[in-house]
Amino acid sequence: MRPSILFPLFKPLSSLRGIGPRLAPLYQKLCGPCVVDVLWHLPSGLIDRSYAPTLATAEKDRVVTLTVKVAEHQPPRKARLPYRIIAAQGQAQITIVYFNAKGDYLTKLYPTGSSVVISGVIERYRDGWVMNHPDYVLPPERASEIPRYEPVYPMTEGIGGKMLRKTIQQALALLPDLPEWQDASLLKREKWPAWKDAVLCVHQPTADNQALNVLARRRLAYDELLADQLALAVIRQHHRAASGRGMPGTRTLQDKLTQTLPFKLTHGQLQAVAEISADMKSSHRMLRLLQGDVGSGKTLVALMAMLQAAESGVQAALMAPTEILAKQHFQKMQEFLSPLGIDIGLLIGKGRGQTDRSDVKQRLADGTLKLVVGTHALFQSDVAFHDLGLAIVDEQHRFGVNQRLQLSEKGRGVDILVMTATPIPRTLTLTTFGDMDISHLTEKPAGRQPIDTRLIDSARLDDVIDGIRRQTAKGAQAYWVCPLVSESEISDLAAATARADLLSERLGKDKVGLVHGQMAAEEKDHTMAAFATGDLRVLVATTVIEVGVDVPNATLMVIEHAERFGLSQLHQLRGRVGRGADKSTCLLMYQGPLGETAAARLKLLRETEDGFRIAEEDLRLRGAGEILGTRQSGMPEYRMADLSRDGDLLDIAHDDTKLILSRDADLTTARGKALRTLLYLFARDASVLLLRAG
Ligand code: ADP
Ligand code: MG
Repeated sequence: MRPSILFPLFKPLSSLRGIGPRLAPLYQKLCGPCVVDVLWHLPSGLIDRSYAPTLATAEKDRVVTLTVKVAEHQPPRKARLPYRIIAAQGQAQITIVYFNAKGDYLTKLYPTGSSVVISGVIERYRDGWVMNHPDYVLPPERASEIPRYEPVYPMTEGIGGKMLRKTIQQALALLPDLPEWQDASLLKREKWPAWKDAVLCVHQPTADNQALNVLARRRLAYDELLADQLALAVIRQHHRAASGRGMPGTRTLQDKLTQTLPFKLTHGQLQAVAEISADMKSSHRMLRLLQGDVGSGKTLVALMAMLQAAESGVQAALMAPTEILAKQHFQKMQEFLSPLGIDIGLLIGKGRGQTDRSDVKQRLADGTLKLVVGTHALFQSDVAFHDLGLAIVDEQHRFGVNQRLQLSEKGRGVDILVMTATPIPRTLTLTTFGDMDISHLTEKPAGRQPIDTRLIDSARLDDVIDGIRRQTAKGAQAYWVCPLVSESEISDLAAATARADLLSERLGKDKVGLVHGQMAAEEKDHTMAAFATGDLRVLVATTVIEVGVDVPNATLMVIEHAERFGLSQLHQLRGRVGRGADKSTCLLMYQGPLGETAAARLKLLRETEDGFRIAEEDLRLRGAGEILGTRQSGMPEYRMADLSRDGDLLDIAHDDTKLILSRDADLTTARGKALRTLLYLFARDASVLLLRAG
């Protein structure tokens, strides 16, 4: 249960003055439902009202605070003209201008002949001073009500800046003194203020506390990152403690496979297989991430793990994100397995034209089928496993965190291996996967040649098509990825269809195929198969997903409107060629002129094939959401931490978490209890529930 000291912060925002049924939904949209959410809504800037010059010495276009004497009201002579008030300071004059103002309101606010203090932006118009709609107008005796420094917040329509500041001031008044959860020596080293002081400081910026403000923001960012890491680690700890099962294997199948393969496993593959094998042997539950760039040979590593499960008498399932990929894994694995005399099944969704679906389900249920590959259909309720021991998830970032949990529910103490082909920078790995063990395939299988990557202006479309015609005539095959026209699949499809038509016209009708997201599965498979066998020379595709396939003979990749893709996406796409022994080429077509950043991004692709370097750069240039695909990523959205600025803190939080849990696994010491408060503060209630009561 949430500790009572936090109750005031988790009251609904409507409990604050001034927030009624009209504003509450707006606040909800802007920052969230609770008092604590407005505290997490940090200022984006600062207005300095301390500048109080005389009119004679004022600098134009600055925010000033002035005392002036009201000389004359000039109401508009016609509707829609502004209302003017002339005010003076000694010899100097200023015109105060209002649009759509009510006259009687202004005569009360500016009594003729009396002094007022105004604060706002002062401008020059012709030869005189002008101030449009002062932010503050007060009689001199109330001048102290004008804040010298005023935070500026990200806004939404319908909530005024003053209103928002008042709300936040109310929330600040509710701030409790919380027990310190951070390590004293860390606070000292980083010179970070206490939590409450930090919150107060970031919402009350002044010209003088800017250094402290930076420290306060870092501290709050660190609080958030630590809460997140700790929550993930607690879940992880729970997962581990739930007793796993030893799957020692016998190596019989694994050895047979390596003997019958036409190639040797790379050093990286051997290493990953060894790590996974050790995890599976132990009675801990495995939760491991297998990272490897496209083409690094993850499928084979997965297969070795699956064989160890089979050798141990339990079942193993591999889940792919799309039907095409599931089928491809299935075919490939079937090929590898045929000399071994062990069967593997395919399971895709109902109504997807699979003829042996009920047979596969039956054999999974009675345990005669040990290995299966499929889509998320594998984990739907109509599928039962006799004894699932290993679940492998390919291309994790397309699945949500929940699906990962669903997997383990299909069996008892299930070991989990997640494979990702998107090279995820370390910082993001930590945020998405927390404290997973990581195996990393660094090298590519021998014999691969570097991919020749070129940038080409889309004005040269005809040249590109000519080039493709020459190459395909010599036996090459090409992917042609169509521009992402918009978020809408319909218009993406229209563009792809038009492109496929043009290419058919130029290259020959029977040579060009098109796959897109709205195609029926059979039709898509048919086209893919025709490309894989070489009947089709060019495959036009709309989305990334459709080209997640392995056709070693394809050596050309054309990507239109490359500037609209994320770097990591481009890298992924490029990885579809360069899979065979022949030299491959990737043409990145762009719509010029390119901005400086866009040009730098595309150049980077030309320079390197190191997916990790590309991903790091993508993170720097475009932010986390872009790398993983914003909507599907399941990425945590941080309120205070900004990974491009606070990435270094994530590492510290990660190490700190390890240390904390190694000493105090259930958070029962004094600091442990404070850390529980931190978890509640960041709404990680679910994690606290996994801890033993303390
Ligand atoms: P990934 O899934 O990591 O993108 P794959 O597992 O699809 O890569 O492997 C890419 C290609 O390389 C496949 O055709 C696979 O058979 C082949 N391959 C895998 N391991 C090796 C190896 N050690 N030596 C040569 N080729 C390999
Ligand atoms: Mg793969």
